[in-house]
Amino acid sequence: MAFSFEARQIRKSFGGVEVLHGVDLDATAGSVLALLGENGAGKSTLVKIMAGDYQADSGEMIVDGTTHQTLNPRQARALGVAIISQEFQDAPTLSVAENISLGRLPSQAGMVRWGAVRKRAVAILDELEIDIDPSAVVGALRIGERQLVEIARSLSSSARLLILDEPTAALSHHEAEVLFGFIRKLRTQGVAIVYITHRLDEVGLIADRVQVLRDGSTALVADVAETDRVTMIEAMIGRRGDAFGRPDPATHELGSRPALSWHGAGADGRFQDVALDVRPGEVVAVYGKLGSGAMELAETAFGLRPLDSGRLEVNGQMAQLGTPVEAVQRGIGFLPAERKTGGALMVRSVAENTAIASWPLLARFRQWITARIEAGAYLRWHDRLSIRSLNDPRQIMRTLSGGNQQKVLLARWLERRSQVMVLVEPTRGVDVGARQDIYQVLRELAESGIAVLVVTSDYEEAVQVADRCLVISKGKPVTELAGDAITMSRLLEASGG
Ligand code: ADP
Ligand code: MG
Repeated sequence: MAFSFEARQIRKSFGGVEVLHGVDLDATAGSVLALLGENGAGKSTLVKIMAGDYQADSGEMIVDGTTHQTLNPRQARALGVAIISQEFQDAPTLSVAENISLGRLPSQAGMVRWGAVRKRAVAILDELEIDIDPSAVVGALRIGERQLVEIARSLSSSARLLILDEPTAALSHHEAEVLFGFIRKLRTQGVAIVYITHRLDEVGLIADRVQVLRDGSTALVADVAETDRVTMIEAMIGRRGDAFGRPDPATHELGSRPALSWHGAGADGRFQDVALDVRPGEVVAVYGKLGSGAMELAETAFGLRPLDSGRLEVNGQMAQLGTPVEAVQRGIGFLPAERKTGGALMVRSVAENTAIASWPLLARFRQWITARIEAGAYLRWHDRLSIRSLNDPRQIMRTLSGGNQQKVLLARWLERRSQVMVLVEPTRGVDVGARQDIYQVLRELAESGIAVLVVTSDYEEAVQVADRCLVISKGKPVTELAGDAITMSRLLEASGG
């Protein structure tokens, strides 16, 4: 009989708060189950229980016909359960090869057979097409590489159920494709796979079935072929209607002169011949996949990358933005794709995060920059951007969700009175509900006369936020769409599928 793992009526509380309210999950051999849900829905908790890392308060797990009330990690491993969790479980000071054999080093007469360790590593890395040196120290690898090593480790242990908890979050596009190829291979070999992701576009690529958790309960179980995105999103966020689709057409007047205007622009072989206007009052998207040149185009608007052909005009004036400082002086605000490294001061207060770009402005009023002034800056924007926080200006940035951090960064530039806002992947790593909030805020900013440019590799994002959308592929503009012509299928088609 084919392997199966059935979780039944799993309940779990932390500190008296129940976070799983009797959840079922079926994982079957040769099938990929995508497990979806917003942050905090209970996905990680559920799979940790299946892997023996947490113990359920009640419920049971039926593995190959045998019922278990609880599992410990060793029992789960013995049953063939392997989990790649969001937290690393590797040994950073050991080599890649040693990590792959961690916990089951081949030995003979009490001696580790190092040749066999290396051979096993080379074989699995080859099979996975992972180009990583087996003798490299794991702690020195990039996060994505480290994750692949973890995957290699669990795969070489001949798992019967492989659980992956948001594995692509740290992977490059290529690494993710390699991983998908491998998951497909394991599926044909009869491994059961549970794949947690918050990226809906991955569901169709990889999964046979989908299960959505919402607030600790199952909101949807379906065959992927028999459901669609809207159904999945509605199951995730639990409200119907406006969640998805095109924004209402703008009724306000656009500024007559473009705030940003590229003419025949090119940079360093990353993109060429780009012509694009962004006018006050509109939200323009540039949609392009990773490596398309879209991100690099955004960088030229903030002095992070020079143009080597054509020109960029800011408010009708030729601009050579050599540094971000010059861009800021021209009224441009910028939200980079990497919040943690590129803008947010994670261990500082939300008030400091809001005020930092405006210190010169605040100081102009001959004031010391006091905590009170910074707090004032934050509170000015807190409600307008519906920042969901403790409403305490001293709250530390890190403790906010990704979506709310993003709003604080928006507040920073609004406080600085930026009239142009350039956002790169504004909702990456932000859950679905908070995404809608951010889109709403961007639409409102445009309505108030700000020019908004969103650069994204997420076509859903372009559909949901843009008045106009330029599609870039392989460094070249392909087409520009406007209004209701901005559809997922048009975007996919234009960008080459
Ligand atoms: P997901 O993986 O879907 O984002 P989690 O399973 O991590 O959700 O979390 C579900 C809920 O359980 C959240 O409210 C989270 O704060 C809580 N939680 C998870 N792990 C712990 C823990 N070790 N201690 C206390 N609360 C936890
Ligand atoms: Mg999780």
